[in-house]
Amino acid sequence: MRAHGDEYKTSAALSNPSGPSSSSSSGAGAGKAKCYSCPAEGCRWNRRHPRFQALKSVVCAKNHYRRSHCPKMYVCGRCGGKQFAVLSDLRTHEKHCGELRWLCSCGTFFSRKDKLMGHVALFAGGHAPVPVAAASPSTTERSSRD
Ligand SMILES: [Zn+2]
Ligand SMILES: [Zn+2]
Ligand SMILES: [Zn+2]
Repeated sequence: MRAHGDEYKTSAALSNPSGPSSSSSSGAGAGKAKCYSCPAEGCRWNRRHPRFQALKSVVCAKNHYRRSHCPKMYVCGRCGGKQFAVLSDLRTHEKHCGELRWLCSCGTFFSRKDKLMGHVALFAGGHAPVPVAAASPSTTERSSRD
């Protein structure tokens, strides 16, 4: 006869894992307060932070987490330099990126002021920044009557 060791398992202890007072449900997150915490510890938007700031919505929480704790996957295709973790941020950037708002007197447009200033400084003479608003808008169609 062989004694089976499995019979010594006390399955009764598994039914009541913790003590009699099992009302220690802290941090369940099922409260009524609609504030969201960042899961990253040490973050200011983590509820353990002494200056904890609650995130107002789950969208805010997601966007914050992506912006702060996730690699930036979206790259602006216009300037090729700006990187974003949130697609909506890229979309917002794209609205302004690529707008050639900086014009040199030689007729060259630039998307950024520092690029224009660098261009002007490069030639040093004969080139000067021109306010695009004062420049002739290309949208107006010419009605040349000859
Ligand atoms: Zn965070
Ligand atoms: Zn860009
Ligand atoms: Zn120029």
